[in-house]
Amino acid sequence: MTTAQTARLMDGTAVARRITEATAANAAKITEATGTTPCLATVLVGEDPASVTYVRMKQNRCAKAGITSRHVALPAETTTEELVAAIAALSEDPEVHGILLQHPVPHHIDERAAFEAIAPAKDVDGVTMHSFAAMSFGEPGFVSCTPGGIMRLLAEYDVELTGKRAVVVGRSAILGKPAGMLLLAQDATVTYCHSRTVDLPSIVREADVLVAAVGRAEFIKGEDIKPGAVVLDAGYNEGNVGDVHFESAAAVASLITPVPGGVGPMTIAVLLEQTVQAAGAQLGVELG
Ligand code: NAP
Repeated sequence: MTTAQTARLMDGTAVARRITEATAANAAKITEATGTTPCLATVLVGEDPASVTYVRMKQNRCAKAGITSRHVALPAETTTEELVAAIAALSEDPEVHGILLQHPVPHHIDERAAFEAIAPAKDVDGVTMHSFAAMSFGEPGFVSCTPGGIMRLLAEYDVELTGKRAVVVGRSAILGKPAGMLLLAQDATVTYCHSRTVDLPSIVREADVLVAAVGRAEFIKGEDIKPGAVVLDAGYNEGNVGDVHFESAAAVASLITPVPGGVGPMTIAVLLEQTVQAAGAQLGVELG
């Protein structure tokens, strides 16, 4: 059965473009004032095709925004110690302002140890425990980019969060968990669902604001979404589909992110924005 779409789309591509334009202006300001161009170091271990594509995409976006990128490619058999040493060297390097470790890294590597080698001042992807704690305590720091992008979309579309029931499906350290903390900071009442949740649909049905971060294609269906809910689909699965069944969800939601073109572009926009903020802070340039 085909149902009519009633939801308005949250256009992540358009919002991300505006953020990136402002970022490019700030990058130019830094370069002009200091003679130094903001620089993002990208670190890739191995040659996983998806990861190679993601890194290349981020480098291209950097170039368009006036950010240089330095790429560190390490072989798949790199040890935890070698990766930690490579990242620690970037943390010390004054020419590098932000560090992105493309993840997942190969299984034999302690990913947490690698993340923790990123200096908090350069953690523009918001993956360290320092950044997570700062975000959770409402202190200055860099947010994890996808949750940061989700919050920017909510702000852009004037979604009031105070007192609203927010349900986050997924609790990964870089997505679900920080998304819930950011919603809590805006006075939403937050519930997390995960693989051990009992009767997940009944909890999802309570959501005024639903964040899907599961990594399973079309896992959440419209029949489980409260009419008028705001739906943010962070999922990106094979076949270019999200974690929400778009057609059925768009028939009941009031606002929804498309996949692609919703949360995805916002993630990169926040990464670039935070890179330039990091450069500004390290080079002593006040940004607009
Ligand atoms: P992840 O680390 O695999 O985490 C998935 C989460 O979903 C886990 O917390 C897991 O629960 C939960 N889950 C899995 N199966 C479930 C089930 N049957 N019922 C309830 N919960 C279930 O994934 P992630 O890195 O957070 O990514 C999630 C999705 O977002 C993926 O599609 C990914 O591609 C996408 N993503 C997009 C961007 C972007 O830029 N747009 C960035 C990052 C990720 P447990 O904790 O209990 O295992």
